[in-house]
Amino acid sequence: MANSEYERRIAARFSGFDQDGNGYIDREDFNVATKAVLAEFGTAARSDKGQALYVGAEAFWQGMAGIADRDGDQRITRQEFVTGAVKRLRDNPDRFAEIARPFLHAALAVADADDDGAATVDDTARVLKALGVPEEIAAAAAGTLDTDADGRIGEVEVVTAFARYFTVPE
Ligand code: CA
Ligand code: CA
Repeated sequence: MANSEYERRIAARFSGFDQDGNGYIDREDFNVATKAVLAEFGTAARSDKGQALYVGAEAFWQGMAGIADRDGDQRITRQEFVTGAVKRLRDNPDRFAEIARPFLHAALAVADADDDGAATVDDTARVLKALGVPEEIAAAAAGTLDTDADGRIGEVEVVTAFARYFTVPE
């Protein structure tokens, strides 16, 4: 894949993070994402699961800012995202999984209504969709994760899928 095509696809992911669509990524976008996931599952912000999701979102934001906010103004512009995040995420996709994991772990817990450590395929797709992943992609991504076809998805699979979607292998 040509580098320009790669960067174009990464830039398209920018809008996934820019949840409020104001042209840059900041802490508020992660709050918006958190509220969207909690609303999707009817989970109270003050509940243990709700608080864990907010904590995970803050860690995710701090991690993204550390990678991409070059001028330290607490905003990640599209240019900062493309030039700052693209190379680092491509060189080290595990790093992305690492910074996203606490948030995704907490999101999975929100989706895991019966607290058995896994979410259904449908509920996993709902999480991805609440995070801004297009519905048809979310459903397909969740479905392909369920490799043993038992209808259930755990943390490793969710983190892997999210990292794959946002890092876009070259
Ligand atoms: Ca924004
Ligand atoms: Ca910045």
